[in-house]
Amino acid sequence: MPYTLSHAIIAPLLARAGLPLAAVACGAMAPDLPLFARWLDYDITHSALGAIWASLPIALGLLVIWRIVLVPVLPRLLPRPLARRVPGRTAAAPPAILVAGCVVGVASHLAWDSFTHASGAAVVALPALRAEVVGLPAHQWLQYALSLAGLAGLGALGARWLRRAPTTTDARGASWAWWTAGMVACVAIGGSTTGLGLLLSVDIRPAVVGGVTMATSAAALLLVGAALVTRLRRASS
Ligand SMILES: [Zn+2]
Repeated sequence: MPYTLSHAIIAPLLARAGLPLAAVACGAMAPDLPLFARWLDYDITHSALGAIWASLPIALGLLVIWRIVLVPVLPRLLPRPLARRVPGRTAAAPPAILVAGCVVGVASHLAWDSFTHASGAAVVALPALRAEVVGLPAHQWLQYALSLAGLAGLGALGARWLRRAPTTTDARGASWAWWTAGMVACVAIGGSTTGLGLLLSVDIRPAVVGGVTMATSAAALLLVGAALVTRLRRASS
């Protein structure tokens, strides 16, 4: 798979066609949730039927967490220069449109993976994707390239949105010290997981994938945990 977060690059592109950005992003990342929650089956969320009864509910769950848990406290959670530019609420959208956005996101994930998975339909159908290039199959290189391009695109679009967004609140936000500590902790968790993987195996790829997965899981848990604590503190004050 390309890196899970990279799949979300499809969301800002489809948002121009009127689809809700967050719903498409949640759908685009949902099939990979078994990488982070091992009790779910990766093959099921990547199958045509599983996309409907497994990936779609996961996408809707992620969307609920985004809209109800995270968005309302973003002005308190983000570092100040960013916090002042987010309104802390989501635009109203009919449930059918949100579900449609999730469906399109899940479909885009499966389509994208079919070009980068060894067993993907496009890889099976197109010999060029199976050809070896500098020691690796072409679909593997495509996977790395799309992962990097997706992340770079998300970073560039996010930075442009923040530059253009007006200051809408006087939110104080969180200090950079908290963010720095959180990022250092996630990098340390990912790095130690990679190191352990290299000790146990001579194959570098699963070790790096394991490290990146653990770092991403830690970042997501930290963010959701901080959001819940912030909401509880706000409710009790
Ligand atoms: Zn995938």
